[in-house]
Amino acid sequence: MSQAELYVYSTNDYETSLEAYQLRKANELLLFAAQFNDFYKVKLKDTHLPIRTMAEFRQIPFTHKSELVQDQQNRPPYGANHSYPQASYVRYHQTSGTTGRPLRILDTKESWEWWTDCWVEVLRSALVTKEDRVFLAFSFGPFIGFWAAYEGAKKLGALVIPGGGQNSLERLTSILSNQATVLLCTPSYALHLAEVAAKEGLDIKNSQIRCLIHAGEPGASIPAVREAIESAWGAKCYDHAGMTEMGAYAFSCVEQGGLHVNERQFLAEVIHPQTHQPVPLGQMGELVLTNFGRYGYPLIRYRTGDMVVNASEPCRCGNRFRFFPGGLVGRSDDMVVVRGVNIFPQSLEAIIREFKEVAEFRIVYYSHQELLQVKVQLEATSEVASRLQVKLRERLGLRIEVETVAPGVLPRFEMKARRVLDLRNGQKAFGV
Ligand SMILES: [Zn+2]
Repeated sequence: MSQAELYVYSTNDYETSLEAYQLRKANELLLFAAQFNDFYKVKLKDTHLPIRTMAEFRQIPFTHKSELVQDQQNRPPYGANHSYPQASYVRYHQTSGTTGRPLRILDTKESWEWWTDCWVEVLRSALVTKEDRVFLAFSFGPFIGFWAAYEGAKKLGALVIPGGGQNSLERLTSILSNQATVLLCTPSYALHLAEVAAKEGLDIKNSQIRCLIHAGEPGASIPAVREAIESAWGAKCYDHAGMTEMGAYAFSCVEQGGLHVNERQFLAEVIHPQTHQPVPLGQMGELVLTNFGRYGYPLIRYRTGDMVVNASEPCRCGNRFRFFPGGLVGRSDDMVVVRGVNIFPQSLEAIIREFKEVAEFRIVYYSHQELLQVKVQLEATSEVASRLQVKLRERLGLRIEVETVAPGVLPRFEMKARRVLDLRNGQKAFGV
């Protein structure tokens, strides 16, 4: 199915405009939540319903992750943002907790069906069909990760091959012996598998894998990361974005230059993180999302903390869903200002990944004489380190220290990679 057909498929029951459709979906959700959801009853008490315009929608208070965490502490174990009696819920997941206390989230059968449909869209955008054999390099633990992808692939009619409870070599062996055609994993793990395959003499480049779909980290929209994965696997690489608390809300397309929001199921806003105003076209802001179909666990105007560029042009693929070039460009809380320059870990990663000789790396934030400093640790030779330092200076206009460490010293990751070590206030690592 081409992207143009996909668009028709995705939008054939729209009203006269996307905005009219989204306004109706928003009102259905708001009226439901204000009546049946104890968490949103309180938050929506000053909102006059139904809303008539998107400007009125933007008057509704934001939902912050800290509120959801606090709510679960006040009303353990699941909090007030569950709209139905507990007997209606059939799925349990929790957030990874890399940036704080994990959230416990339940889904009803209908909400989980909605999650599945969102993943069907992700798979369709990567042109996956019932002919495919989909391998999921995922632990199948309480982190939502690829559980919904598993359901989506099954719904499409593809053969799903679980890779839980296996080490990397066992997974590679399963991928090759089952002649899997699609691999779902984090970008870091795709690179790690390639490293293991090279060591074991396994030929993944000529395997049946024709595409990889990534989640968990934003790496697949970073050109150098994507190229590294595509050349190691001899396959095309697609991105996807989702959050345990929100849903699988965006996917990349054949053009591969960024992410499309699934606007049939999500309402996206891009705001300035401090002023809270919508950012002008072409500028960067924080993504705020509302999910339309997860009535068992709705989120309205949720501050994702993810920074995106509010594109002024639609994507060339023909899909008119809102497009974010470069995908998720960083986390609002990961951005640091070093000697007047805004730095996201991803922007450093984009440069580091251009050096194919780097097996693994870590970014370290630390204080020196009260000033924030950044250094990069590399598993590479000192010659590569010097060249990287020159490149960082050229691109960022900053001198950033680059040090080499012994091969195999830095941690490897299966799910969310944590390549930032923050030593400013004692030792604390957080997710990229
Ligand atoms: Zn596109």
